[in-house]
Amino acid sequence: MSSALRFEVISKAFEKKPLVIPNREDRPSEFFAKYVFNRQKMFKYLPAKVYKKMCDVIDNGTTLDLATADAVAEGMKRWAMELGATHCTHWFQPLTEGTAEKHDGFVEHDWKGGMVEEFSGKQLVQQEPDASSFPSGGIRSTFEARGYSAWDPASPVFVIGDTLHIPTVFISYTGEALDYKAPLKKALKAVDKAATAVTQYFYPEVTKVISNLGWEQEYFLVDEGLYAARPDLLMTGRTLMGHDSAKNQQMEDHYFGSIPARVAAFMKDLEIQALELGIPCKTRHNEVAPNQFELAPIFEETNLAVDHNMLIMGVMQEVARKHGFRCLLHEKPFAGVNGSGKHNNWSLSTNTGVLLHGPGKTATDNLRFVTFIVETLMGVYRHNGLLKASIISATNAHRLGANEAPPAIISSFLGKQLSDLLDELEKSSDDEVKLDGKRAMSLDIPQIPELMLDNTDRNRTSPFAFTGNRFEFRAVGSQANCAAAMIVLNTAVAEALADFKVRVDALIAKGVEKNAAILKVVREDIKTCKSIHFDGNGYSDEWKKEAAARGLDVESSAPLMLDNYVKPESIEMFKKMNVLSEAELRARLEIKQETYTKKIQIEARIFGDLCLNHIVPVAKRYQKQLIDNIKVVQGVFSDKEAAELTADDMDIVRQINSHCTFIIKNVEALVDARRVANKIEDERSKAIAYHDTVAPLLETIRYHVDKLELIVDDELWPLPKYRELLFIR
Ligand code: ADP
Ligand code: MG
Repeated sequence: MSSALRFEVISKAFEKKPLVIPNREDRPSEFFAKYVFNRQKMFKYLPAKVYKKMCDVIDNGTTLDLATADAVAEGMKRWAMELGATHCTHWFQPLTEGTAEKHDGFVEHDWKGGMVEEFSGKQLVQQEPDASSFPSGGIRSTFEARGYSAWDPASPVFVIGDTLHIPTVFISYTGEALDYKAPLKKALKAVDKAATAVTQYFYPEVTKVISNLGWEQEYFLVDEGLYAARPDLLMTGRTLMGHDSAKNQQMEDHYFGSIPARVAAFMKDLEIQALELGIPCKTRHNEVAPNQFELAPIFEETNLAVDHNMLIMGVMQEVARKHGFRCLLHEKPFAGVNGSGKHNNWSLSTNTGVLLHGPGKTATDNLRFVTFIVETLMGVYRHNGLLKASIISATNAHRLGANEAPPAIISSFLGKQLSDLLDELEKSSDDEVKLDGKRAMSLDIPQIPELMLDNTDRNRTSPFAFTGNRFEFRAVGSQANCAAAMIVLNTAVAEALADFKVRVDALIAKGVEKNAAILKVVREDIKTCKSIHFDGNGYSDEWKKEAAARGLDVESSAPLMLDNYVKPESIEMFKKMNVLSEAELRARLEIKQETYTKKIQIEARIFGDLCLNHIVPVAKRYQKQLIDNIKVVQGVFSDKEAAELTADDMDIVRQINSHCTFIIKNVEALVDARRVANKIEDERSKAIAYHDTVAPLLETIRYHVDKLELIVDDELWPLPKYRELLFIR
């Protein structure tokens, strides 16, 4: 990148471009799920018997026989071909980031020298992508790298462009999960089982509990020309250098501000495509940082919501390109302004339509409500370190702990009413429960007054906040697969509920009345998990001290946080709930450690290159200009006058010199640190070395680069600056 090019891309970015505003006459309800083979399409394209069987497979998880699969494939093919599809792909979520696919045409020999369009049940149900290039954490050695993807009928197939996409799980031939979806589905099954059993104390008619997820996706948009002129952004998704813009978010004028026309056109286009793909988009707005935005759909069943989030992250990037933008999903593309997260709104509900995390009207409803709140807290309390491990990554580490996002400590905000209620319950005696200090009640008719839960009482500093009828897990990173967090959360809550049921049943067996038994155990648990409850300011330093005193996980080094995956209580939980085996957990951990290392390795390489071949040469060129000028002045004026006239320039020359010397010396140190770390074989130790020795150098050197940016002539500076990246639309 030359400075001339910088000006060219800036002026292009400022140019008024024709807006590509999609024009649609029909309403969202008319084009919603146009490209999705949902129940409506199944009904239309499948024989009645096959349709019924498919509904049973989807609703009750019954297995699909090959004859039915063949019939489904036939109808699916007909539908997809009407939409112009010529290929199909199994679409899966390997343990890298993003999704993977391998396209096959709908073609077969007709054995008469021609071709026929064919798509069999077998192709629909199972494929064997070469698994050797996907991370497996040592589960399979390369020579036996056989894995297969298997259709997940709970997530409907969809068409993008000319390709029918089939959501699948990805498993090794020996049965281990190689993706996010296989364990997610198991976690959802575990929470369904445990929660249904507990729900039946209150509503015996309930036969299924559904886990819900409503994600809120934050992102940045950057003009594509400027993006291309920043090799760091291009290669790592974030800027590794760049001085603060004089104006950034301090005016708070971007949040919920009016949406710029070019961005609005992008959003509209994105929403249309998302709706056509069956993603129920609802909310869009500006976020806190300049050029930062948010998109949120209506919540859905968690498995589907996860697929939809993965899908939309891809669609966002495509649509952004069409509008001359790049969409940045990185958690921290720019230092000094807010990063991006993906709030995961989570709740449980029944097949009869009851929101288990929401208060209700009757006494039974409220005892159920308290039970589910407290047992959720129990799960989060017991596995707070593991929950943190589920959301940490090299990229999200930039966001956590900074004063803009939840700290690197998991705690739960409940709000005043709910806190008071739990306090009352905790203090109450076995035969009397007082609420609001007024109402007394006997245990056989628990009358928890209908709660008017104030969901405006938000505490933005809490990583796991109760917001009226759901919990909002806010620590999830913007580019993460939500499944990682959802696997842990749902499994932890399943374990807590299962354990709760055992203890309540034991009391009932001893002759304690059911509601009394429930209250007794709830009360016990309120006491046990008290330390996870924190309504105060999560950003404060006092909280860090207090959390440590409470025994919560306060580890702040990302590689060490990951250790939680293989703590005995984590291994036991995943095993007991039948979600992941110890071997799978160890494999996952290794992949996470390796990914952590690689991310920082790439950053360090690009950063070193940019320092040595972009920044230092330009700084020296400017330094030479100054020296030349000083020489001219010295030739014209007397020594005394010249000394006065050149004093400022001399000062800058010295500053440049000292910054450049520091940069060159420390880039060498950075290369050395990498070299040492690369020799380490054990993935954990290597990740720790990268965290402790490589990553900090990036920050130290950056300080000097950013100082140079302030003093070097703007005309020479080779990289688009923050004020250009963040304020151009
Ligand atoms: P915020 O004020 O935090 O931006 P919104 O009202 O925009 O909240 O909702 C955020 C997300 O929470 C949406 O995706 C919404 O569908 C989801 N949501 C609402 N209620 C529930 C619930 N009971 N369970 C799960 N998600 C929910
Ligand atoms: Mg929110």
